[in-house]
Amino acid sequence: MICNLCPRNCGAERNEYDGRGVCRAGTLPKVARIAPHMWEEPCISGERGSGTVFFSGCTLRCVYCQNYEISAKNRGRIITVNELADEFKRLENLGVHNINLVSPTPYIYAVLKALEIYKPSIPVVYNTSGYEKVETLRLLDGAADIYLPDFKYASPTLSEQYSAAKNYVESAVPAIEEMLRQTGTPEFGGDGMLKRGTVIRHLVLPNHTRNSIDVLDIINERFQGAMVSLMGQYVPLGKASNYEKLNRKITQREYEKVKNHLFELNLDGFVQELSSADEKYVPAWDY
Ligand code: SF4
Repeated sequence: MICNLCPRNCGAERNEYDGRGVCRAGTLPKVARIAPHMWEEPCISGERGSGTVFFSGCTLRCVYCQNYEISAKNRGRIITVNELADEFKRLENLGVHNINLVSPTPYIYAVLKALEIYKPSIPVVYNTSGYEKVETLRLLDGAADIYLPDFKYASPTLSEQYSAAKNYVESAVPAIEEMLRQTGTPEFGGDGMLKRGTVIRHLVLPNHTRNSIDVLDIINERFQGAMVSLMGQYVPLGKASNYEKLNRKITQREYEKVKNHLFELNLDGFVQELSSADEKYVPAWDY
């Protein structure tokens, strides 16, 4: 196929096993880990975990990616669509609360086919960097129950510097609006687990509290009905050590400043503990 699935618009040739686009993904799913995952938001992980499929290759490839081994180095194993459907079933049989697809966009056609073969009775979560195209997301209307988009940057300068994506904000804003259109406001089950809705995540970067505050302001203005998940788990991984401002964890003071703004805006959602900033929370890429 010639691929223009995400805002990179590579127009790149992709075959089943290989791709020449920025994500380097082929069309068959390449996965780094499939397992119950306990470290998502409480309404996603619950007590039995989120049945997570970590796909290899990413359309954004941030220099500080917390999953750098799989996003930039494309570690993983190629499986067939039928095997992916079998994995959805296996995860569901383990009793997880949902099927959580992490960075699935390059494989969206394979994912949709797998969901046709086996549609789980638990919610399907689409977990993304937020760097998406509305027309691609429309393919998921009715297939995804929950969206977990990141909203990383408020400025094209930063998105270009750290993700080589000057068009991040202009892409992510309409993309998240489309996610909200599809899911509506959050719906919870009697067990407190999220059944439907959009939760916007923001990872606070060191030395960039201004960016975080601007991001929260955009969320407040543009994304009515979404919940926010503020994350303080940043650890300098990937190529972060090459960037002076990114080469440390965030401080308590920085996190407090962003948290206070979140509380002032009275946004609904979650705030992660700063103690989550530890490399031990990076999953084992052991598929
Ligand atoms: S999905 Fe991959 S190949 Fe397709 S446009 Fe995006 S980065 Fe390029």
